[in-house]
Amino acid sequence: MAEDIERVKCLIIGSGPAGYTAAVYAARANLQPVLYTGREPGGQLMITTDVENYPGYPEGIMGPQMMDDFRKQAERFGTDVRYEMITKVDFTGPVHKAWTESGKEVHADSVIVSTGASAKWLGLESEKRLTNKGVSACAVCDGFFFRGQEVAVVGGGDTAAEEALYLSKLCPKVHMLVRRDELRASKIMQERVLKTANIEVHWNTEALEILGGQEVEGIRAVNNQTKAESTIPARGFFVAIGHKPNTDIFNGWLDMEPSGYLITRGKTTRTNIEGVFASGDAQDNIYRQAVTAAGTGCMAALDAERYLTEKGVI
Ligand code: NDP
Repeated sequence: MAEDIERVKCLIIGSGPAGYTAAVYAARANLQPVLYTGREPGGQLMITTDVENYPGYPEGIMGPQMMDDFRKQAERFGTDVRYEMITKVDFTGPVHKAWTESGKEVHADSVIVSTGASAKWLGLESEKRLTNKGVSACAVCDGFFFRGQEVAVVGGGDTAAEEALYLSKLCPKVHMLVRRDELRASKIMQERVLKTANIEVHWNTEALEILGGQEVEGIRAVNNQTKAESTIPARGFFVAIGHKPNTDIFNGWLDMEPSGYLITRGKTTRTNIEGVFASGDAQDNIYRQAVTAAGTGCMAALDAERYLTEKGVI
């Protein structure tokens, strides 16, 4: 085997709660897992503030702290964590091949996919042009820059509610653009949003254009019922309209929904390819919680262990 090709028993792709939990279980089962973190080590929890619904933390915990703890726990049992991206796979079999960004080739007896999901964008030209110049998908990361200024948040789910609440503590006014006449967010988040005096919900409203040349100067919006257009005076524009699974590199290899979410078999994490298992948000468009991602990461490691035992690898 060429020197730059490495053989591993268990390759884990992705580093959110699913990947790290898979690593804890795989390492403790002596699968000597190698985990590639991808471009955003820790995944979406790195751009979250308080996580209040993960069991075991009665006072809540900060997302980045939680991911740091997950990583340390995985490393404590011998997981080899590498801060690189897997950019290509070949699942022709029987050994599964993967390539890193820097061109290194890894051959794996089993693969656990835990690549998660990323924020979606509206797709407006002005949104692209003004990204990082006032347009953001992360209030926790960028809210600070808009202290004392009016901002807008697009979306009506829990993410949008969380972003609006976070920004309401920094900004005098938060405009929330909701395309329907109701929020999709959980009841408790809806209540918090509607009770917050400086959040104004614009119902049935969609953004048409983000105004400004070098920075955001306002939002041209339309009421999709009355068709009336208005200009919302916001200097920051936060997009919080859901997520897309990070599964592009598995296209053509793994069965997936048209939306890109990986398809697993029955109550397992097995994919259509023997020895390849899927966990976390990459395969879950319904629950998408840190705790459910961790649960499926655990399942994937147990499935991989069983598979490697059957194959006589361990
Ligand atoms: P969701 O898919 O739940 O919500 C997306 C929101 O964006 C919806 O209101 C949707 O409108 C709106 N939307 C989608 N596309 C567009 C568009 N092109 N233009 C305008 N609006 C649009 O995504 P979230 O990221 O909010 O949440 C994902 C999951 O994560 C959920 O299960 C959620 O409960 C969970 N979550 C939990 C948190 C917590 O418990 N603290 C925090 C954050 C997320 P419509 O309703 O009309 O489809």
